[in-house]
Amino acid sequence: MTNKRIYIAYTGGTIGMKPSERGFIPEPGYFSEQIKKLPELAYPDMPEVTMHEYDTLLDSSNITPDDWYSIASDIESKYQQYDGFIVLHGTDTMAYTASALSFMLKNLSKPVIVTGSQIPWSQMRTDARDNLITSIFLASSYPIPEVTLYFHNRLYRGNRARKTDASGFHAFESPNFPELIKVGSRISVNQSFLLENSNQPLQINRIKESQVVVLTLFPGFSAETLEAVLNSGVRGVVLMTYGMGNAPCNDSKFLHLLAAANHAGIIIVNCTQCLRGGVDMTSYETGHELLNAGVISGFDMTPEATLTKLSYLISSGRSNNEIKQAMQTSLRGELTRV
Ligand code: ASP
Repeated sequence: MTNKRIYIAYTGGTIGMKPSERGFIPEPGYFSEQIKKLPELAYPDMPEVTMHEYDTLLDSSNITPDDWYSIASDIESKYQQYDGFIVLHGTDTMAYTASALSFMLKNLSKPVIVTGSQIPWSQMRTDARDNLITSIFLASSYPIPEVTLYFHNRLYRGNRARKTDASGFHAFESPNFPELIKVGSRISVNQSFLLENSNQPLQINRIKESQVVVLTLFPGFSAETLEAVLNSGVRGVVLMTYGMGNAPCNDSKFLHLLAAANHAGIIIVNCTQCLRGGVDMTSYETGHELLNAGVISGFDMTPEATLTKLSYLISSGRSNNEIKQAMQTSLRGELTRV
């Protein structure tokens, strides 16, 4: 065993579930007992591992911003005692949690790896074993100072990852940013893409109950829907647009509502519906009109990163101008401006 110490926060997810009449459900105690018996932990390359099972194990579809805060606070309280952290989590909202943690944990100098599995540990063909063992090994061997997501032989920047396959083992991708580590018989680290250690003390920031909504445009989207949302007390909107950030430019009510909302202090961020590539509102008239209405660009951020970043910035009490500026700046490597 190495002299490294790794802390595992077990929040729930398929990884520790067992079959029931209502489908897979988390079973308290079961997975923690399995980990204690894991023979791989006795190998000389492995660290000392402590696993903490949360009181309520969640299917990640039930995760809320309060749970993100519990995870971030848990990491903060154990920060000095451990060399790295693993968050065991369901895959459904894993990319949201990885993004949220990346913004909530400022000045991270130790690895935080979020992982889980598509098939539970309890099942014969499980992918949990590799995801967990390799995450433990990476967290103790590569001091990558950021929140990452490990799945099926790849370590991704957490706020760049997306779940792109509902059932396949290769369930995550990082469409707009290279993977940080490729794991095969050799482990290859994409060193030049890693974030730098700020060497500043860790700071955690809460994301409060979100006053942010995600609105997806579609042909026939009515301005009345937008109006209802804008009048519901929101502070921010992630507008999921077409292609390079385009929206109808022949609907004057739609454009007027956006401009009025911007004047009233609602921050509207343009995020593309496309999996790859980003927003450039100067390419088409249909994008230009959004720019004129005060909509800001989300560039190549994932919807998960855009939503959690906007929620984090609004929760931080910054002024609207500061929020707009920060939204268009890379804070944790989540965005590339071209
Ligand atoms: N529904 C599960 C969850 O997100 C799916 C998974 O873990 O793969 O908790």
